[in-house]
Amino acid sequence: MPVYKSPILILRCQDWSETSQIVHVLAREIGRLRCLAKGSKRGQNPFSGPLDRWTLGDAVFSQADPNRLATLMELYETERFDGIRRRLPAFYGASCITEIILTIVPDLEAQPAVFDLVVDGLRLLAAVEVEACRAVTLTLVWRLLALLGYVPRLDQCAECGAAISLESPLNFSSGLGGPVCGNCHPPGRIHHLTAKAAQAIAFLLSAGWDEVRRVRLTEATADLIRGLLSARIEELAGRKLSALRYV
Ligand SMILES: [Zn+2]
Repeated sequence: MPVYKSPILILRCQDWSETSQIVHVLAREIGRLRCLAKGSKRGQNPFSGPLDRWTLGDAVFSQADPNRLATLMELYETERFDGIRRRLPAFYGASCITEIILTIVPDLEAQPAVFDLVVDGLRLLAAVEVEACRAVTLTLVWRLLALLGYVPRLDQCAECGAAISLESPLNFSSGLGGPVCGNCHPPGRIHHLTAKAAQAIAFLLSAGWDEVRRVRLTEATADLIRGLLSARIEELAGRKLSALRYV
């Protein structure tokens, strides 16, 4: 049976029996998968279980058949992001990003850049002031969608590729997940953004995390970004997610 080693982030845990759990993980070298952690709730087990979400560690697991559960054989925990569990805005942010990963990140596709982004984001959420959690979370969600190829660049039309200026108001298509020029009229909802709002989004996407954590989004700008992201995620998932509601 093939055995793999990879850093993993635990996204969700479900009880499987009196003594075991099923864990949904993002594995840096494998992608998203589900593993059976046999005996993880027993007194002595190879995982220091019971396992909890938002645990980062180095794992060994086996997987005979990609259509079936993998088996978690060992886990050496390296980080637990405790700051997320202690503060509500950080908790909502981490819950949001977790729900989105579980919904739109494809199974069993290695995406090291996605893994690194999410781990950096959770580490930041665990550490930043509560007032910064909203900007960090919304930026993290947008960057995640961009890495997965679900939102194109802000400075060109998502349909025809024409250059788009951020100096003037912007039309944003939730079907395409990006801005559209005056000549393109894709089906689906069009959101109208002021130049200021478009510039705020462009800044969040290009700034370093040290700058993002200093941003305090106004309610209006946060509402707008939440609206764009929710509409895009709904398009991708085919259903509404509650993820962004509390961010
Ligand atoms: Zn166009």
